[in-house]
Amino acid sequence: MLLLLLCFTAATQAKSQGKLLVRKMANFTLVLPSSQDPTHVTGWLESARKQVREYGLALPPRVVVRIYSTSSQFAQATGLTTSHLAGTQNGRLHLQPLPLLLRRPEALRTIGHELVHIALGQAARNGLPRWFNEGMAMVVAGEQQPESIRFVTLQALQDTLLRSQNYSVIRSAYGTCQRLVGKFVEQQGKSAVLAMLRAIGNGGKFPDHFRQLAGIPLEKWARQTLPNR
Ligand SMILES: [Zn+2]
Repeated sequence: MLLLLLCFTAATQAKSQGKLLVRKMANFTLVLPSSQDPTHVTGWLESARKQVREYGLALPPRVVVRIYSTSSQFAQATGLTTSHLAGTQNGRLHLQPLPLLLRRPEALRTIGHELVHIALGQAARNGLPRWFNEGMAMVVAGEQQPESIRFVTLQALQDTLLRSQNYSVIRSAYGTCQRLVGKFVEQQGKSAVLAMLRAIGNGGKFPDHFRQLAGIPLEKWARQTLPNR
C-alpha cells in the first residue's frame, strides 16, 4: 500500500513537471524540463565553474543540476522561497526555471556562489560555520550586500542567517559575512585560507585552524573585526 502510494506520488509529480530530460556534459549533468533550452545556462555554469576553480577551490568532477518547471516546484523541492534563484542540496545545484533565471542579471554570480557551497560541502559537514561558508561564497562570486544592521557577535550573525525572515536584516548579515571573510583573506592570504578550508574538509576543527592562522582565538578576532570601521 505504501509502495503504491509512493508510486502514485512520483507519477503525479512527474506529470505535473512535464517530461524531464537528462543532458550529460563534461562537468555537469542537467536534469531539466524538455520545454526549456539550456544553451545559455550551460555557458553560465561553465564560466562559474571556471571562476570557482581559478580561485583555488575544488569541485566534484560532475555536478548534477536540477532545473524546475515552475518557481513553486523549485521552492517545494529545496525548502527555499520563490524569490531565491538557486540553492544546493546534497551536492546538487537546484535552479529556478530558465526563462526566469535568464532575466536576472545577478544569476551568473548566484550560480558561482552556489558552486562554492558545493566545493565547501565536506568542510561544512565537518563544522565550517555558515557565516564563513556564506562569506567565502560571496567573496569568490564577487557579491556584496549593504550592512545596514550591526551584529555584535558571531552567534547573532549565525542566528540571523539560520532563522531571520526579514529581508533587510538577512542582506545585512550576508554583507557582514562577506566583509569578515574578505578581511580574513586579506589578512592571511588566499592560499593560507584555502589550505585551512582543505584541512577542515579533511576533518580539522574550524576554531583550532582559525586560531592557528589568525594567531588569536576566533572570538577575539570577531570582537575586533565585527565593528565596521
Ligand atoms: Zn549561500
